[in-house]
Amino acid sequence: MLDILDAVPDRLISCLDHGHVRLVDCMPRLCESGQTADSAIVQAARVSYGEGTKTINEDRGLIRYLLRHGHTTPLEMVEFKFHCKMPIFIARQWIRHRTASVNEVSGRYSEVKDEYYVPALENIRAQSTANKQGGAGIMPEDKATSFRYDCSSFATDAFAEYKNHIDAGVSRELARINLPLSTYTEWYWKIDLHNLLHFLALRCDSHAQYEIRVFAEAMLQLITPIVPLTIEAWNDYHPLRGGMKLSRLEVEALAKRNWACTFTDIDSDNKREREEWQQKRLRIEEGIAGDTH
Ligand SMILES: Cc1cc2nc3c(=O)[nH]c(=O)nc-3n(C[C@H](O)[C@H](O)[C@H](O)COP(=O)(O)OP(=O)(O)OC[C@H]3O[C@@H](n4cnc5c(N)ncnc54)[C@H](O)[C@@H]3O)c2cc1C
Repeated sequence: MLDILDAVPDRLISCLDHGHVRLVDCMPRLCESGQTADSAIVQAARVSYGEGTKTINEDRGLIRYLLRHGHTTPLEMVEFKFHCKMPIFIARQWIRHRTASVNEVSGRYSEVKDEYYVPALENIRAQSTANKQGGAGIMPEDKATSFRYDCSSFATDAFAEYKNHIDAGVSRELARINLPLSTYTEWYWKIDLHNLLHFLALRCDSHAQYEIRVFAEAMLQLITPIVPLTIEAWNDYHPLRGGMKLSRLEVEALAKRNWACTFTDIDSDNKREREEWQQKRLRIEEGIAGDTH
């Protein structure tokens, strides 16, 4: 039998300035030689059909079928446990994913470590005008430098005050309340593969904040050698990866394509929906153009 974690020799990936994702454990932990944890998915799926072991190629076909058809419970047979360290403002986004088991370091039990996130100069984004929730483009260097300086000096002062109050006897549970959101926290995070893929689809996507994307990409990198067939299928089919989901209006627009294979607008008065179709039709038109050259 093989230890599945041997497929990932380096199980800790550093993220941002002080953070990391470390793969602690996974289930299944053992597999037959030549297999990966994908085998736990196909075993479970085959119980449904009362069938036994097949070849790797048939396993691949079955996994691809499961992902295309949203038959997701076999994916829950694989689990991952991570040790993650991230700034609190990222932990707040992360914790919204309710399907994981979490155990976080306690700022009541022990003193908060003097570690906080200061974005690298090249990661100080300007406010996007198109997307109210996002940043776009980098800031002029002087303004970015001034922001970085403030990030450091504000946190340094806050931690100095924190330490003063602790030394004066204030309880840890209260002394911490003026620490910044950039302060690092850490937790153990255990999740099954189905729910992890949901998390990764949302948090590796370009709409997610850069700082959480770094952690999601690290997790994806760690699990890929463990479930390679599942990740391949997920990348091929998921609408936030390489796949695409079409609405009825979009299918109708596709059907009305002209002789040059360009597509009409969709029949909707919603600006955002029409813009989303523009993105999809561009991808399809580029695909067709690429095919004919
Ligand atoms: C780019 C981006 C921007 C966001 N912006 C905001 C924002 O501005 N404000 C904000 O508040 N949030 C925001 N979120 C968080 C978002 O609304 C979700 O809370 C988060 O992505 C978790 O998604 P989820 O509930 O599908 O995941 P999970 O909690 O992991 O749940 C997975 C799935 O399980 C099911 N499920 C789990 N728990 C329940 C339940 N109690 N009841 C019913 N079904 C359940 C649902 O089908 C769910 O999709 C944002 C997320 C992203 C990715």
